[in-house]
Amino acid sequence: MQVVNPHVRAERRPVEAVRTVTVLGATGSVGMSTVDLLKRGNGRYAVEAVTAHKNGAQLAQIARDLNARFAVVADPAAYDDLKAALAGSGIQAGCGESALVEAAQRPADWVMAAVSGSVGLKPTLAAAKRGATVALANKECMVCAGAMFMRTAAASGASVLPVDSEHNAIFQALSAGPREDVSRIFITASGGPFRTWTREAMRAATVEQALKHPNWSMGPKITIDSATMMNKCLELIEAHHLFAAPPSQLAVLVHPQSIIHGMVEYRDGSVVAQLGSPDMRTPIAHCLAYPMRIDGPSAKLDLAKLGQLTFEAPDPERFPSLALGQRAMETGGAAPTILNAANEVAVAAFLNRKIGFGGIPALVEAALDAAERRNATAEPQDIDEALAVDHMTRSLANELLPEIAAKSV
Ligand code: NDP
Ligand code: MG
Repeated sequence: MQVVNPHVRAERRPVEAVRTVTVLGATGSVGMSTVDLLKRGNGRYAVEAVTAHKNGAQLAQIARDLNARFAVVADPAAYDDLKAALAGSGIQAGCGESALVEAAQRPADWVMAAVSGSVGLKPTLAAAKRGATVALANKECMVCAGAMFMRTAAASGASVLPVDSEHNAIFQALSAGPREDVSRIFITASGGPFRTWTREAMRAATVEQALKHPNWSMGPKITIDSATMMNKCLELIEAHHLFAAPPSQLAVLVHPQSIIHGMVEYRDGSVVAQLGSPDMRTPIAHCLAYPMRIDGPSAKLDLAKLGQLTFEAPDPERFPSLALGQRAMETGGAAPTILNAANEVAVAAFLNRKIGFGGIPALVEAALDAAERRNATAEPQDIDEALAVDHMTRSLANELLPEIAAKSV
């Protein structure tokens, strides 16, 4: 069995040393939490590049606040806004996919990968290829191209630090014993806004209801994934690659309070957990300072006030996404890439009110079935192959959409 995340070099740099950082997806939920920590750094961080999709004005403000050298919008239509907002600042502006990749390639020690969706693959891989420390929020890198991504990081000597709260917790808990003595790894799940709803009630759930996460404040895509529990499936696949863990070792446990983020069970029966307030600034701060620690601004836990932590087994009857995720992880090859792309199409269609909530897993299942019938599940060998599977699945899912819409709205 492999050692725990072999791609982490535990360089014990003094936490006071200036660290050069880049934030991909700086205007998003994880991006802004990162920006908040960087602002509190008292000159400890020099910012190389920050990126966004369309939000030029907000990005320019971030770039000015952090005194970044380079700011990039992926969408060329937002370039003029960005340039206008940066006028006189001396900060270089860029646009388009190649500039996004250039931002990742520029020489920052530490790169936060917080672009949402499979579009994050190319820039994140570019940072890994040059041996940077990659703080990985973009779970799609693991889901769509996990094996290839980890091989690339191993070859270049890049460190991959998990930002996703569950994986960050597991990463911390894995330091308590040798990897070969781990018996089980638990990923906790809040259960989302529909944890106690019936399947019938969930079928009629509105966008507004699905966007109301009980504990976490996150971007819209991942919030819907929490409501369907597809997020846990993506996280299982993410853990499978990050920690070289076989599917049989990984389990999901519903924990509505979102205080325990992940747990590792060792062969002697010890279970090591990481706890904290549900605030992404804690795992991001861990990655920013790793292997040291810095002060974190999130609320400190008051367990006596909380009173109790509860746990439930996940219910695959009401959350059919769970079985789809398990199927994709066990099938392997391109199945997780297909699952992810079909889910991205399904979530966008739900947010645009083209399909009902029950249509999300229905579309993902139909896409997986169709891809298997076409024998299109061979493992992508490089980024272009992974993106080709992603594009193929998106067209397939779009073709299947009207049929699913007719059944689910
Ligand atoms: P958001 O939707 O809040 O932010 C996404 C960021 O990516 C924004 O900066 C956005 O720019 C940018 N972006 C979106 N589309 C593109 C594109 N086509 N090209 C370039 N940039 C783009 O997402 P989150 O912060 O919630 O999530 C980011 C990643 O982190 C996801 O992979 C998610 O699964 C993962 N994650 C998130 C957690 C959370 O708490 N939010 C927890 C764990 C993991 P713009 O503002 O201009 O649209
Ligand atoms: Mg998570």
